[in-house]
Amino acid sequence: MTAQIIDGKHLARRLRTRFRERVAALSMRGVVPGLAVVLVGDNPASQVYVANKVKACEESQVRSFMHRFPAACTETELLERIGELNLDPATHGILVQLPLPPQVNVRRVLESIVVDKDVDGFHLYNVGALVVGNSIFPPCTPYGVQLLLETTGIDVAGKNVVVVGASNIVGKPMALMLLQKEATVTICHAKTRDLAHHTIHADILVVAAGKPGLIKAEMVKEGAIVIDVGINRLADGRIVGDVDFEAVRERAAWITPVPGGVGPMTVTMLIENTLRSAERFAQGEAFHPAQPFWQVPAR
Ligand code: NAD
Repeated sequence: MTAQIIDGKHLARRLRTRFRERVAALSMRGVVPGLAVVLVGDNPASQVYVANKVKACEESQVRSFMHRFPAACTETELLERIGELNLDPATHGILVQLPLPPQVNVRRVLESIVVDKDVDGFHLYNVGALVVGNSIFPPCTPYGVQLLLETTGIDVAGKNVVVVGASNIVGKPMALMLLQKEATVTICHAKTRDLAHHTIHADILVVAAGKPGLIKAEMVKEGAIVIDVGINRLADGRIVGDVDFEAVRERAAWITPVPGGVGPMTVTMLIENTLRSAERFAQGEAFHPAQPFWQVPAR
């Protein structure tokens, strides 16, 4: 069996075309969706990710506002700026590019973003909402994976899903989202003994470990759907995922390539969440940030 390719680039392009209609509908109501991007320091990977996000905004006619800080900036400076953005009516989404330098408490910064503008979905309120299956802004990478899975037409309910990787931004929210869709979910991580023992039972295997070549063909069930979230730069400059693509392709029914799979979807879902936020503000579903979210009526 040679797997069919799940084409993230193509799906991302289709979704972005539809975004333009939503932007036009918002502009009829006098709203231009806006995303604030906070970038601290000069980490080369972060700069590439941020450039991709800004480009995606331009393509979707979403305004982007860059807020750059030197690597030596203080936590207070960041918190003050986020406080201003929380109140800024032109900003519907606030994204803080991670990682942050060691003098900054990441959790404190993420918790300072008002819930209604938390388009990355990392605020504890949105994480909790994900746990109870009622998320406003699902985290972008697992959200993108969910849409990629939908393109296969295969219902995840009752399927054995194995998620390799248990980070807060990919593995854990991915597992929660698939559990919400009634899959039977196993989460593996660096301390998991005998990884293959778990992966071989997966009808759907989602890999987000950041280890090139981690998943070999003999670890994959014949006919499985394999989603490779990993992005690794090899010494020769090539970008590869965590899955041995060529070999696994001969066993799986569906597989995502790297690049061109999950990556383009992550950026696209950030725009989706920003548009959703602008629509919520336009419809009066989002609340003024001066009023803490725990004092507003239940949604
Ligand atoms: P992370 O380092 O925060 O977490 C990695 C997880 O993988 C951990 O839970 C760790 O225990 C687990 N792990 C590590 N080695 C393992 C092994 N040998 N066996 C089983 N589990 C193992 O990383 P992250 O931020 O979740 O990102 C994971 C990968 O996904 C990276 O390559 C990253 O670049 C990529 N990523 C891609 C996108 C995208 O848009 N495609 C978005 C986010 C992250």
